[in-house]
Amino acid sequence: MFEKILIANRGEIALRVQRACRALGIRSVVVYSDTDREAKYVKLADESVCIGGARASQSYLNIPAIIAAAEITNAQAIHPGYGFLSENAEFAHQAEESGFVFIGPRAANIAMMGDKVKAKEMMTKSGVPTVPGSDGELPHKNDKEILKIAKKLTYPVIIKAVAGGGGRGMRVVYKEEDLLQLIEITRGEALSGFGNDGVYLEKFLSNPRHIEIQVLVDEYGNAIYLGERDCSMQRRHQKVIEEAPAINIKPQLIKEIGLSCLKACKAMRYRGAGTFEFLYENEQFYFIEMNTRVQVEHTITEMVTGIDIVKEQIYIASGEKLRYKQDQVKMSGHAIECRINAEDPFNFIPSPGKIDQCHFGGGNGIRVDSHVYSGYTVPPNYDSMICKIIAHGESRLEAINKMKTALLETNFSGIKSNILLHLKLLEDRNFIEGGQSIHYLEKLIALKNISYDSK
Ligand code: ADP
Repeated sequence: MFEKILIANRGEIALRVQRACRALGIRSVVVYSDTDREAKYVKLADESVCIGGARASQSYLNIPAIIAAAEITNAQAIHPGYGFLSENAEFAHQAEESGFVFIGPRAANIAMMGDKVKAKEMMTKSGVPTVPGSDGELPHKNDKEILKIAKKLTYPVIIKAVAGGGGRGMRVVYKEEDLLQLIEITRGEALSGFGNDGVYLEKFLSNPRHIEIQVLVDEYGNAIYLGERDCSMQRRHQKVIEEAPAINIKPQLIKEIGLSCLKACKAMRYRGAGTFEFLYENEQFYFIEMNTRVQVEHTITEMVTGIDIVKEQIYIASGEKLRYKQDQVKMSGHAIECRINAEDPFNFIPSPGKIDQCHFGGGNGIRVDSHVYSGYTVPPNYDSMICKIIAHGESRLEAINKMKTALLETNFSGIKSNILLHLKLLEDRNFIEGGQSIHYLEKLIALKNISYDSK
């Protein structure tokens, strides 16, 4: 096992990894930018290194600075968290070339899954069903061919950047006459955003749910899946509430798709934690992408399975054999996660600034993962998520009720938060019934069915 791990991230996930290291008796080093000097995990760190300015390119995306920090602190491994460099194959490669263990998959797997077209091809080969779409990247300067492909898929279609991610680089097209122009716009954005103007087409599924499968795979090809998560409550393709398990899906279907994910992992010699993301409609799963890192919502899987995913990532990276067999993975009860953002709940504009006072709810089955505290200033430079509240109950309804109580107990003063949005959603009749599609939350917001007179 490692003696020291460097955490190449910030925010709640830096704290989450720091805690996992402590649980295992491993020392950890946190790196931070100028603006994150006052973060909780920096104050609590065994060791910390300032790696540069507030801009991510100067710090959390600065590969030489991070590797130098690992060198001067004698860390043996690097945990990349999520976002930033976590799915950057070059970083994984350079970390390993410099003699550090990258706590994640092999660089070649990260690169392959980062190319959404190659990822889909790989899944098709392993028998994982994918969304019908163009046969790979769309050709340049062949309008006739592109129009033909879209027509065959039937409208609406969705244009996606090959190198896209984080809900960006996608555009839905409803009418043939808009297609070519929207492709050009998406290409331009993809080039400036991801450095690659490749795009492809998919059938736009009208009312799917977002269901994903969590996997763990060791160096020796032993692989398990830890059930599924339903992440359909989204705004602008960003998840807002997630839950596990997903209701109203036949266990047999979950088992089949879980096993096909493991088959794909073995075929590509995957290693570490990973998530296969699917759209689910009419009892069919359609693969959309694989995330080769720990996800924000890993917590709900931990609550229902009792397996600590970050700890297992570390065990796997240290070369241990997987510590669980598939028949030891049991789901118990129901878990829900609410992502609390520092933002205005009416117009969703970020609300960074000083938190004068904050108080978190608690109690049996409530978990709060947060790096903020009273007196902490939320910087404007990064993601606005300040806290994840996770509720575990015997049943889904109990989890919802516990979550509502926890949200009502939680309070931030000095900044705005989206707690009200969560409360309204948790009180919505259709949400309580469950199984809504990925468009549900946006429809609810657009219908102004959400009003915030009182908390
Ligand atoms: P990203 O890597 O940016 O997260 P994904 O491919 O995972 O992109 O898609 C993100 C979200 O976009 C999905 O959860 C879903 O809401 C929507 N989406 C993606 N592909 C389709 C599709 N073919 N039909 C309908 N919605 C889609």
